[in-house]
Amino acid sequence: MLKGKSALVTGSTSGIGLGIARALAAAGANVTINGFGDKAAIEKERSAIEKEFGVKAVYSPADMTKPAEIADMVKTAEKTFGSLDVLVNNAGIQFVAPIEEFPIDKWNQIIAINLSAAFHAIRAAVPGMKVRKWGRIISTASAHSLVASPFKAAYVTAKHGLAGLTKTVALELATFHVTCNCISPGYVWTPLVEKQIPDTAKARGITEEEVKRDVILAAQPTKEFVTVEEVASLAVYLCSDAAKAITGANLSIDGGWTAA
Ligand code: NAD
Repeated sequence: MLKGKSALVTGSTSGIGLGIARALAAAGANVTINGFGDKAAIEKERSAIEKEFGVKAVYSPADMTKPAEIADMVKTAEKTFGSLDVLVNNAGIQFVAPIEEFPIDKWNQIIAINLSAAFHAIRAAVPGMKVRKWGRIISTASAHSLVASPFKAAYVTAKHGLAGLTKTVALELATFHVTCNCISPGYVWTPLVEKQIPDTAKARGITEEEVKRDVILAAQPTKEFVTVEEVASLAVYLCSDAAKAITGANLSIDGGWTAA
């Protein structure tokens, strides 16, 4: 489906981003992966994508807090593959603290990575997409782009902002066959979440199943995690021709969380 197209997924060295990069590669796209982590582990993931899916994969170490590095990453993807057709803004971090104690540097960092990075990447990618009259821009937002939780001021603000940016860009590009949408997962089973479970079980004196159901998934009506593969499938669908009329949307994939 995406043979000959090129995709860039920010924050794709682990979790949801890696899942989306792998799914886009499985659909035939050459991919640029990005994010932090152990060099050897990143190289292993990059070469696995090439071997498993028969596409080209390159790695960009661009830091999503640095606008110039983001613009360079987009340029390099275009140069390497001849175009950048699918942009997935996925890099994100979290920090939890009461508003009056929220560290100013954490606020700035979360707004930069979770929101401003998407602006910089979209700004750099759009000229090429407009010329080619085809493009797919997808941002990983969150249930927190629709509802709030206490102590997550920066994250909730950034994710609501991402939903607004998505709508604006969708309107600007509507006649260019470039769609812009966000995907809003509830709790997703990523290594980040998985690692917290045994410690929480120990600390609270409950089983790991109880931690998942009664602590982490308390807000998610299905009481089940969304999987990385489910989120990735939605991203691939948004890249298909069947989804060409879906633009400016904020698509929930949250086990009913935001229906409550
Ligand atoms: P993760 O920690 O597994 O992945 C985050 C990725 O972002 C990593 O590749 C990391 O290296 C990268 N990253 C962090 N800072 C960066 C920077 N400055 N520059 C470049 N890359 C950077 O987390 P995840 O759970 O896969 O989350 C991915 C996205 O999904 C985030 O935007 C997150 O807000 C969103 N999300 C996650 C969940 C969940 O439950 N896991 C739910 C809703 C939304």
